[in-house]
Amino acid sequence: MRLLLHSCCGPCTTFPLHFFRAQGFLVDGLFFNPNIYPDEEGEKRWLTYQQWANQAGLRTRRIEMPYEQWVKAVSKPGQCRQCYYVRLERTAQIAKAEGYDGFSTTLLVSPYQDHQGILIAMERASREHNIPYVYRDLRPGYRRSRQMARGNHMYMQKYCGCEFSMGGE
Ligand code: SF4
Repeated sequence: MRLLLHSCCGPCTTFPLHFFRAQGFLVDGLFFNPNIYPDEEGEKRWLTYQQWANQAGLRTRRIEMPYEQWVKAVSKPGQCRQCYYVRLERTAQIAKAEGYDGFSTTLLVSPYQDHQGILIAMERASREHNIPYVYRDLRPGYRRSRQMARGNHMYMQKYCGCEFSMGGE
């Protein structure tokens, strides 16, 4: 089964990639995170992710949207459920257009995210684009993902992404 995996960053992609591959999925990555502020931080996370993806043999790409457009789409930074939806809606759209069998997201590995909110966004994006979503509770692998990231000397950010989250993860 071909899976398009929305990747929020490199460290959070480590364990999920390993997990989905072990389950037999053929995984491609998609870095679409217009929520990241400022631009330099987005660049840093992308480069970290891209370098690691090359080593891991993960075919991936980045798509973009100006931060201001993302702010408009979510009304204001800090509206996490809309933020999930913006990213997953585009992921589902691309997955459908390119003939993937389903889509998922590395956001599911973080115990710091609104897990239920992510699931709601996945369901909605799946319905709207008529493509299955692949849900797994990946949170038990969070600690492992941090170990893998440290083992690969990856940059590990201290905040979620938007300017309102800059005080902590
Ligand atoms: S805290 Fe994170 S998930 Fe919530 S709006 Fe900001 S970047 Fe998006």
